[in-house]
Amino acid sequence: MREPASSPYPLVDFHCDVLWKLLEHEELSFDDHSDSRIDVTPGRLQASQAILQTFAIYTSPQKASQAAIWKSVDLFYDKVLSNPRMHLIRDAADIDHAMNNGLTGALLSLEGVDGLQGDFTMLRLLYRLGLRAVGLTWNHANWAADGVLEPRQGGLTAKGGQFVEECERLGIILDVSHLTERGFWELADRVKRPFIASHSNAKALCPHARNLTDDQIKALIAIDGRIGITYVPYFVREDGKATIIDVLRHIEHVAGLGGAKQLMLGSDFDGIEQYVQSLRHPADVRKLVNEMLKVFPEQVVTDITSANAIRFLKQQLPAK
Ligand SMILES: [Zn+2]
Repeated sequence: MREPASSPYPLVDFHCDVLWKLLEHEELSFDDHSDSRIDVTPGRLQASQAILQTFAIYTSPQKASQAAIWKSVDLFYDKVLSNPRMHLIRDAADIDHAMNNGLTGALLSLEGVDGLQGDFTMLRLLYRLGLRAVGLTWNHANWAADGVLEPRQGGLTAKGGQFVEECERLGIILDVSHLTERGFWELADRVKRPFIASHSNAKALCPHARNLTDDQIKALIAIDGRIGITYVPYFVREDGKATIIDVLRHIEHVAGLGGAKQLMLGSDFDGIEQYVQSLRHPADVRKLVNEMLKVFPEQVVTDITSANAIRFLKQQLPAK
C-alpha cells in the first residue's frame, strides 16, 4: 500500500471532505485499513509526501446544525489528529514543526456557515480549536450569503458582512470557492487581507458555476490571494470526461494570467463520486506533477505543489 517517498515535490492540498464522510458513516475510520470509501488516507498522504492537507467541515444543507459542526470537530480530533503522522496546524510554527518532522499538517476549515446559525461566539470557540479557513456558503443561500447555485445570485447579507470582518479580526482565511460572483466582489470590497478560492477552476476553459472568471482570477492574483485547482471532473471539462492533461490546462491558464505565484491545489477528494481519469487519491497526484514538469520549470512546479500555499499560510496564520 505504502509507496516509497522519493519525489522532490511534496504536496499541499487545500480541500478534502474526509470529515464529511466520517460524519455520514460512523463506522469509517481514518487509517490505512479503512475500506475503499476513503480517498485521503494517512498512507496515501505519506506516499504523496503531503506537507499539509486541509480538512473541511461540511454538512448537507438539510443536516446543517451547530451539533453537526461540533461533531465534525470531534471527529477531526478523535480520528484524524489522533493519527501519529498528523499534526494540527494552528500557526506558522506548526508548519515548520510538521515539515521538520516528516509529519502531515492538518488544517481545519469550514465549508458553508449554515450550521453556525449566525453565532459569532461559536466562531471564536472554533478558532480556539484550530479553525483557520471559512467559506461563507456551499452552493445555496444561507444567513450570510448566496452560494453559486442560488437562483437570485445575491451577495452578502448585512450579518454576512459583519461575519467576514470578524473572521478577518480573528485571522481566519476567507474562502470564496462556492460564493456567487456578486458575493465575491462584495467580499473583495469589504476585506483588507488576501482571500482564497480553495477548490475552483477557470471558467474560460470550463463554464461551470463553480469556476472563476478571468476577472476573478486576476483579482485574486492582484491581492496575492490563492487559487486551488480542483479535480472535480465537471469543473475540469464540461462533459466530465476529464484527464490529468485537462487539469494541467487549467493550471496553465491561471499561470498565463500571471498567477504562477498564486496557484495551489485543492483536490476535493472524498467530496466527489466521479474522478478525473487516473486521479483518484493523493498518491495519484504524482502523475499530475510529472505532467507539470513537462511544461513548467522546476521552480514553478515547486511553487504550485507546495511553496505558494506554505508562503501564504505563513503570512496569514498567527506567528505562534
Ligand atoms: Zn466544495
